[in-house]
Amino acid sequence: MLEGEVEEPEILRIYVNNEVAPGGYWWFFPYSLMRGYVNVGLGVRADLKGIHPREQLRKYVLSRPEFKGSKVVKAGGALVPTRRPLTTLVWNGVAVIGDAAYVVNPVHGGGKGSSMISAKCVSEAIVNALSIGNTSATNLWSANICYMRRYGCKQGALDILRYFLQKLSNEDLEFVVSKGLVSGDELNEIARRGRFEVGIIDKILKLASLLTRPSLLLKLRTLVKYMDLIKEHYMNYPSRPEDLSMWVNELRNIIKSYHDVLK
Ligand SMILES: Cc1cc2nc3c(=O)[nH]c(=O)nc-3n(C[C@H](O)[C@H](O)[C@H](O)COP(=O)(O)OP(=O)(O)OC[C@H]3O[C@@H](n4cnc5c(N)ncnc54)[C@H](O)[C@@H]3O)c2cc1C
Repeated sequence: MLEGEVEEPEILRIYVNNEVAPGGYWWFFPYSLMRGYVNVGLGVRADLKGIHPREQLRKYVLSRPEFKGSKVVKAGGALVPTRRPLTTLVWNGVAVIGDAAYVVNPVHGGGKGSSMISAKCVSEAIVNALSIGNTSATNLWSANICYMRRYGCKQGALDILRYFLQKLSNEDLEFVVSKGLVSGDELNEIARRGRFEVGIIDKILKLASLLTRPSLLLKLRTLVKYMDLIKEHYMNYPSRPEDLSMWVNELRNIIKSYHDVLK
């Protein structure tokens, strides 16, 4: 709880800074119905040695003037699986949903909505399998088709955007934002849809070609192409368990080829 008033409490703020939150971001979400109360937090990549989110939060965020005299009302933390989904949510007699199935948006880490989508897809498949009297992978498979088409395809595409963003330095990020290549609203739109809309691509390519960073232009072109390829691959998710391993191999090849091009 803050001592002072929150300015513009209707705005949720996300800050990207590789020194403060390497590989992640910190957030400042005011509670609109409880004056002075804010949800503040920070996430980092889990594989970075010696970087603890609680320490980063204390050192860089809670030391800011707006937190002077503030009180911690509730604290907590957990791992967030910001990546593409499990390649299958079901198998013989087994089904997973939510974080256990890695159904989190890879860019912003939001997982509540997609957890509910996975729960809907899986529960419908379970009802169907039970009505047949056999919870085999084949009878539960509709859960995958349902989830991958609704949200998994977006997660797959956004996973390489996450990788791209995590590799950008603070200077690159500053460049992208200050030159207007991608605005905060546009990044939000990309994270929501899992693809760059044509208008955004045109603007980025026009602007980037006018600027002095041809390598960034090439990387952005590659990113857009591979995001579309991966999304399409998820839309062609196999219709039966027997074809899963071939589909997974093809997915791995696409991702490997993306990383090879960007090396
Ligand atoms: C710090 C933080 C901030 C986040 N902010 C957002 C956000 O702003 N928006 C958003 O969309 N997502 C956010 N997420 C992600 C989101 O919370 C998760 O993706 C989502 O809650 C996953 O839902 P779930 O049902 O899979 O798992 P959970 O919500 O973790 O639910 C699992 C439940 O199972 C219980 N459980 C565990 N083990 C057992 C057991 N053995 N027996 C019985 N019960 C058990 C747990 O106590 C828990 O209640 C955030 C995550 C974190 C860590």
